[in-house]
Order: sequence, then structure tokens, then C-alpha cells
Amino acid sequence: MTATNVSKWLDAEVRYDSGVYNKHQVVMVRGQGATVWDETGRAYIDCVAGYGVANIGHSHPDVVKAVQEQAARLMVMPQTLPNDKRAEFLQELVGVLPQGLERVFLCNSGTEAMEAAKKFAITATGGRTKFVSMKRGFSGRSLGALAFTWEPKYREPFGDAVDDKNVTFVTYGNVEELRAAITGDIAAVIMEPVQGEGGVRPVSAEFIQEARRLTKERGALLILDEIQTGFCRTGKMFACEHYGVVPDGMTLAKAMAGGVPVGAFAMTQDVATRMPKGGHGTTFGGNPLTMAAGVAAIRAMKNEGMAEQAREKGAYFMEKLRAIRSPKIREVRGLGLMIGVELKEKSAPYITALEHEEGVLTLQATPLVVRFLPPVTISKEQIDQAVAAFERVLQTVNPREVPTAEVKEEKQTE
Ligand SMILES: *Cc1c(COP(=O)(O)O)cnc(C)c1O
Repeated sequence: MTATNVSKWLDAEVRYDSGVYNKHQVVMVRGQGATVWDETGRAYIDCVAGYGVANIGHSHPDVVKAVQEQAARLMVMPQTLPNDKRAEFLQELVGVLPQGLERVFLCNSGTEAMEAAKKFAITATGGRTKFVSMKRGFSGRSLGALAFTWEPKYREPFGDAVDDKNVTFVTYGNVEELRAAITGDIAAVIMEPVQGEGGVRPVSAEFIQEARRLTKERGALLILDEIQTGFCRTGKMFACEHYGVVPDGMTLAKAMAGGVPVGAFAMTQDVATRMPKGGHGTTFGGNPLTMAAGVAAIRAMKNEGMAEQAREKGAYFMEKLRAIRSPKIREVRGLGLMIGVELKEKSAPYITALEHEEGVLTLQATPLVVRFLPPVTISKEQIDQAVAAFERVLQTVNPREVPTAEVKEEKQTE
């Protein structure tokens, strides 16, 4: 769609939104499975999936039904007043969590899950306030979570308000640095099992296993950020299962409730019991509407073998991407359906061309990487189409010919 037939909706959104987002010239109105449609009726293959939210597909029928029924029954109930749907969700979630994680703090987003993780880590370690996080790691944008997020340009505008003096960033994968950083005053080590924003980089088994061993030895927690990797994305229910590592805490959000806003910090009994009553809380966390959606979403993941599907389709997708013969590709990497293609040049023009010319939505992860995070329900035909489209734009796009406004790097917005 060109700027000349831009609708009143795009106009209003651009006019009134805060301005922090780099808005595409399109208005999306509907989604089903791995397809989304804009207001002109054009269909797109969606390899963004709401930044890895729509793992079970857009508008999964079971989630739609659960939300409709629950909306008519009860939408809000504070967490001091137990609720049938919340109880059902907690049971369902703990049932799929790695053994040992059996208590859950419910909230509304990934960032909030990280905030909870931070507070629980402090109380669980008797007041330690120092943390180890990863270079290229992404943990969210609130001032507390931002302290764990590596990208300096996200932190710098806020100066001293970001509590990053207490955070040591180590090179993801460097065991020596990790060992040196985990001193006796560290509350927790925080990492993603596959860095998403940081360029789709799966962790090495040695590194994550050593993090588990060292944290245990030095009285710190290991907190895994599974906000993007969780809920079948990587071919297992949780990515830590690939490495045989069980953390002390795990942050969850994105796909957990099938598209409805949600977040959670899952933890061991030991971590949970050290937080004083009233030490943390949130109004919307665990609301019955979200919980009903979450029950339906997790059941759909189990019933439809979504982890298997992600494993199989991810392998197929990566194999097809690796078969592309293009001098512009440096590397294809990923785990399950969390896939990144690193180019030898800026990825933005290719991402723009994929959307405009080919109707394929992808997202950036660092300036060089094209990231594919499709719903697990994506068909092989759609994967074939997306790969063929990618191959075409690699051949046809000349970065110098794309208008500068379009080449502008996407603001990373997770
Ligand atoms: C998306 C994301 C977050 C932040 O979650 P929000 O729901 O956007 O607050 C944190 N960590 C990782 C790894 C993410 O992918």
C-alpha cells in the first residue's frame, strides 16, 4: 500500500500515538492462523506473530470461545479473592513447567514478569541487589527491567534513573567472564535461552549449564527469560528443556494466553516463600478473562502437539533458508520456529520489501538480522512461499534504491 491511499485509521493512529513507534504504512484488521489481513483485504503471511505472541495462531477457535464465555461470566477479580479460572490456569501452567517450578506470580506483560523476578531474587537471597545479565540480552523497557537490557541506546536517555550500576553484563557464551562475574553478592544471573532481540542466538549448552552450576554454588538464582522462547516456540514447551537445565525462576509472557496480555514469574517453592506477604502485587494479574484464555491456549499447545510441530516445521524452514544461494547471507540460525537470517548488510530494506512486495511480515533483530517468528500453525506451503519471497527480495532489492524513509532501521519495539 502506498502513502496515497492511506486510510483515516492510519492517519489517526500516527497523529495520536505517542510517536515512539516507527509505523508501517498499513492498517491490519484481522488474523487467522498464520495469516493476517489489512483493511484493503490484502493477505500477509505473518512471521511476526505479534512479536512471538500468536504461537498457536491468530484467533485460535478454543481461545476465542473461552474469551467469549468468560467475558460474559466474570472479567475481573483481585488476586486476594480466589477464582475458578485462575486456579485452573495455575494448575495447567504448573503442569507444563519444568519440575521444581511450582509457584507463580501472575502479571500482565513480560516486563512486569522481569520486575517480579528482580524483586523475588532480592528477597530470596536475603537482600542481595547485584545482578548478572547478558550482552545483547533483552529484558524489557520499564526502569527495573531496562537495567538488565543490554542495548545502551535503550538505557542512555534515562540516565541515572536506570538501576544498571548493579548489573554486570557478560558476553553471552563466555564461561570465563561468567565465572568472574558471579561473585558472592550476586542475587541472580539472568539470560534468554535463545537471544531474540539480540539476533536469534541459541545459548551454548556449556554456558547455560555452567551458569546453573555456578549460581547454585554461589547462592545466586538462575533466572531464565523464556518470554519469547517459551510455549513451544523453540520446539519444546520451554527452551531450557533442550539443555536439561531447570532454573530457580522463569519469566513468561507473550504466547502464554493465546494473544491476551499476560505475564508470569514462575519459581521454586523456596524462592516464593522468602517474599513477605504484600511484598508485590498487581491489579490485573490473574484476571479471569486472561486466565480463561490461558487455559485454552496451553491445552491447545498440548492437544495439538505444538512443540513437535515447531520442531519439525522449524527444521524444514531452516533447511529451506539454508538452501538459498545468495552472497548476501552470512548465516541462518535458530531453534524450532525462532529463526534468524544474518545478512552481510542491513536487513531493513529486505524486511520492508518482504512486506510491501511480497506480503510477508518479518522483523528485525539487530541491524543485520531478518527474524522469522511465525505461528506454529503455519503450513508448509506458507513456509515455501515465505522462503521463495525471501529469495526473490535478496535478488531484486538494491539497498541504495530503497527510499531512505523506508530503510530507516526499525525501532526495536518489544
Ligand atoms: C518481549 C520480551 C520482553 C518484554 O516483554 P513485554 O511483554 O514486551 O513487556 C522481555 N524479554 C524478552 C526475551 C522478550 O522477548
